[in-house]
Amino acid sequence: MTSPSYNPDVLIIGAGLAGLSAANELQLAGYRVLVVDKGRGLGGRLAGRRIGGATFDHGAQFMTTRQPRFVEQVNKWVDAGVAEPWYSSVTGQPNSHVRYRGVPTMTAIAKYMAQGIDILRATRVTAIGHEDNGWIAILDNGASVSADSMIITSPAPQTIELLATGNTQLPNDKCARLNRIVYESCIAVMAILDGPSNISSPGALMLDVGPIAWISDNQQKGVSSLPAITIHGSAAFSAKYLDYDRNLVAKKLIAAAKPYLGANVLEFQVHRWRYSKPIVMDEHSCMLASEHTSLPPLIFAGDAFAGPRVEGAVLSGWAAAEALINC
Ligand SMILES: Cc1cc2nc3c(=O)[nH]c(=O)nc-3n(C[C@H](O)[C@H](O)[C@H](O)COP(=O)(O)OP(=O)(O)OC[C@H]3O[C@@H](n4cnc5c(N)ncnc54)[C@H](O)[C@@H]3O)c2cc1C
Repeated sequence: MTSPSYNPDVLIIGAGLAGLSAANELQLAGYRVLVVDKGRGLGGRLAGRRIGGATFDHGAQFMTTRQPRFVEQVNKWVDAGVAEPWYSSVTGQPNSHVRYRGVPTMTAIAKYMAQGIDILRATRVTAIGHEDNGWIAILDNGASVSADSMIITSPAPQTIELLATGNTQLPNDKCARLNRIVYESCIAVMAILDGPSNISSPGALMLDVGPIAWISDNQQKGVSSLPAITIHGSAAFSAKYLDYDRNLVAKKLIAAAKPYLGANVLEFQVHRWRYSKPIVMDEHSCMLASEHTSLPPLIFAGDAFAGPRVEGAVLSGWAAAEALINC
């Protein structure tokens, strides 16, 4: 039996917020879109996990809104019941931006955006190449995709690796822009507690010094029915320990979190975000990489282009769709 193949107008690599925003825009404009993501869930760094009866947001914890179009978008998610304000003011950060959370978890937003879009999940694009009229992508299940145009939303180092698989040559200035992008890492620990935590309402704690950057109480947040916390290691701690034994590193973070917990850890899991947030970004909201080349339309998008947060990912996805429609 031969492997199935797909023939959309546009292949989008990544079902994070950038990929899903681009997919929605393009589908509205009449393009046939296929999104492929290596993850089992939707949302990329908007990630959730269940451990026993506990539920965790272990990637992005909330969204803030700055641009009017994104404010409007978040209001639509609130109306649809997949987002709601979580808090706007905590100790050390009085009266700052409203933080919106996904309902019941952050991934609800991605699931909502994915409605009506063709998505292959748990499917990695292992190689990309091009012909005169389009792109060919090889998937890890043996199938292939031929598409007129392609949008890639993976973190820049992974995009660079993908480009190398098919020897896709970009102009030097575009390669330099991609190579300049830098991310910080984040080690996330998800721990079930034997009782409610000591973290005060609304269940969010930001720390400026030490190995921990953030602790959230998923039970207070309304994500988990059982006491369950997410600990994010600081950028310095995560960079130092990213490739160490994950359980030993988690125990260090749990020990550092002890004064805030007021309960014992029953069970924990760890996730390593190698590319957590971009700290050196491109100055444009997406990159039309095929511009001034003979390549078929190729666009890079994601939070490294329009801002290191959920909002940036969405704005970049929209910008990518617009660039493709206009090219
Ligand atoms: C720990 C952590 C905490 C954060 N906290 C916040 C926060 O509180 N507020 C905030 O606004 N932002 C936060 N962020 C940042 C926010 O999550 C990101 O800015 C945003 O989700 C990025 O979306 P994206 O679509 O650009 O990328 P991603 O969500 O990373 O999507 C890229 C997708 O591409 C897929 N992919 C990559 N390579 C391939 C391949 N070869 N084949 C198939 N699929 C592939 C990946 O699986 C992934 O799903 C946080 C991020 C992390 C990691």
